[in-house]
Amino acid sequence: MKAALLYGIRDLRLEEVEIPEVGPGEILVRVRAATTCGTDLKIYRRGYVGGIIKYPQPFGHEWAGDVVKVGEGVEGIEEGMRIRAGNSTPCYRCSMCRKGYYNLCENRTWLWGSYAEYVKVPAPIVKHNLQILPPHLSYAEAAITEPLACVLHGALKAGVKLGDTVAIIGAGPIGILHCQLAKRMGADKVIIGDMVEERLKVAEKWADVTVNVSEEDLTARVREETDGLGADVVIEAVGLPETWQKALELVSKGGTVLEFGGCPSGTKIEVDTQLLHYGEVTLLGTFHATPEEFTKAFNLISSGVIDVKPLITREVPLSEIKEVFDRILPSKRDLKVAIIP
Ligand SMILES: [Zn+2]
Ligand SMILES: [Zn+2]
Repeated sequence: MKAALLYGIRDLRLEEVEIPEVGPGEILVRVRAATTCGTDLKIYRRGYVGGIIKYPQPFGHEWAGDVVKVGEGVEGIEEGMRIRAGNSTPCYRCSMCRKGYYNLCENRTWLWGSYAEYVKVPAPIVKHNLQILPPHLSYAEAAITEPLACVLHGALKAGVKLGDTVAIIGAGPIGILHCQLAKRMGADKVIIGDMVEERLKVAEKWADVTVNVSEEDLTARVREETDGLGADVVIEAVGLPETWQKALELVSKGGTVLEFGGCPSGTKIEVDTQLLHYGEVTLLGTFHATPEEFTKAFNLISSGVIDVKPLITREVPLSEIKEVFDRILPSKRDLKVAIIP
C-alpha cells in the first residue's frame, strides 16, 4: 500500500509499504478520507510532541474509512462497516487515569498513519475510541471528530455559559469550531480575530463580530464591544506565545483565558500578577480529550449540531500530500484539506 512517512522536519515521503497484519482485537481499515490538522503542520515544520514522534513516523491522525479485516475477538465490528477511530485511548490504569484525567494518561495507545491506503487500529482503540458512521455522514466530516473533541474538552473546562461574551484569537479550524461551540453553549456574543480574510469569511457564519487583526487592534475592538469590560471567556486558537500574551489583554475581571493552541517548547509568557489577584482571572491550558468527549464530538457532528462541512475547503489525492504541506496549508487560505488515498 501507499503510505506517507515522515523522516524528519519537512521530510515527508510517500512510500510503498506492507499492508499491516491484523492481530487479535485489531481491525484493518481502508482509509477513505484523512483530514489535515494544524498539529500535523506543526510536526512537519518543527518536529515536536515530547516522545510521541519517532522517525520514520507514519503520519496523519484524523480519518474515517471502511473496515476490511476484523481480528479475532472483536465484537460489534464487521467487514464493510464505515467507521472512524480516535488517535489515542487512555490506559485506564496509570495514576492520571485513576484520578479521572484520561486526556493526561501517561501510558496512552497512539494511532498515527492515516495518510495511507490502510490503517490498522490497535485493540485498545477498537475497544474504547471507535464510532460507526450513520449513512448520511461523509468520511471527511467524521474525521473531524478528533479536533472537535479537543475543542469540546477546552470549552467545557473554560466553562462557556449562557449570555457570555467570548473572544477568540485565530479563525483556523480550531477557532471556528470554538466559535460554533460557544454559540451552542449559549454565548451571547462571539468576537473572532484573524489576519486571513478567507478564514474570517467562513467564521462570519457563526461569529457575531469578525475582526481582521492586520487592520484593527483586537484588544481595542473587544473593549469597544464589551463596554470596556473585556470578554468573559477568551480563547487562544493559534499556538504562539505572542497570541497567548495577547489573550490576557482581552479578558474581563472574573473572566477566563483558555490558552488552547500548543506553542513551541521552551517558550514563555508573562502574566501580570495584578490581573490574576485583583481581577480574579482564571488562566488555563487544555490538552487533547477523553474518550467520552470523542463520543460526544462525534454525536455533535452526526446530528448536525456542529457543522464541519465548511471546514473542508479542498480534496486532494494522497499522491499530492507533499504539496499540501509545502504550499497549500502554509498559505492559510484553506482550512482543512481532505486527503483521499
Ligand atoms: Zn488533529
Ligand atoms: Zn492512563
